[in-house]
Amino acid sequence: MRGEAMSAAPIFSNAHTHTVFCDGHNTVEENVLRALELGFVSLGFSIHSGNPYEGFKIENEEKYKVEVARIREIYGHRIEILCGIERDGFYQREFNGFEFMIDSTHMFMKDGEYCHVDHSEAWQAADVEKLYGGDYYAYCADYYAQMNRLLSGPHGDIVGHIDLCTKYNEGNRLFDESSPRYLKYALETSELAVGTGMPIEMNTGAISRGYRTTPYPSMDILRFIREKGGEIMINTDSHRAEWLDTGIAQCVEMARQAGFDHALRLRKSGFEEVGI
Ligand SMILES: [Zn+2]
Ligand SMILES: [Zn+2]
Repeated sequence: MRGEAMSAAPIFSNAHTHTVFCDGHNTVEENVLRALELGFVSLGFSIHSGNPYEGFKIENEEKYKVEVARIREIYGHRIEILCGIERDGFYQREFNGFEFMIDSTHMFMKDGEYCHVDHSEAWQAADVEKLYGGDYYAYCADYYAQMNRLLSGPHGDIVGHIDLCTKYNEGNRLFDESSPRYLKYALETSELAVGTGMPIEMNTGAISRGYRTTPYPSMDILRFIREKGGEIMINTDSHRAEWLDTGIAQCVEMARQAGFDHALRLRKSGFEEVGI
């Protein structure tokens, strides 16, 4: 993937990186070393916010901050390192001491049960069957309703994988992502997201893990974001150092097709435009 990133993907940054402090495979330092190999100018870490539903430990957030600060002392003169968090809006609480926040939805509540959107295909299918009588559109409507609640409150800095509910829907095998019934909800949330002023990420996490061959969001959503004047950034939602640049070139190509001439990347000083 290195050649791809160096030649065709002029982003040289990722703001969505998981480590051993949540469900990532590599340490903070291993990710920084890989980012240096790739010639990145900046790397944002994004620990999953601790919560009682997925077992991510709240106490890990403090250890993570200390470790990111330690690694920044060592490598901070060679690459900008930012300490962020991927907040799940379902578990509302205060977040302090992070340099940036990704707003994501991985779970929502239906009839007293927790629906885990991306835990596994079997889990999602069981929820759709049991709680929605097999209706994926109704399931997606509730996913987007949870996204809307998150986006309507005090928001963070980046909108995470806006159409995560399509994770297992490669080739529209579960529902039709171009149908008006689906797009009504997806575009309503996208409009709300654009209205917050936050960049909306193109996210390749499901490509690295073999669930999909295309990034989030779908082309329909991407074109809509462009029409509405929204900003995008390209993130790999990496859970392994070797996946830090997965699919960046593909995102650039798709973004160009949707009419974008730039994406944003995260720097110490804030967001920076990068021509694509
Ligand atoms: Zn996520
Ligand atoms: Zn993530």
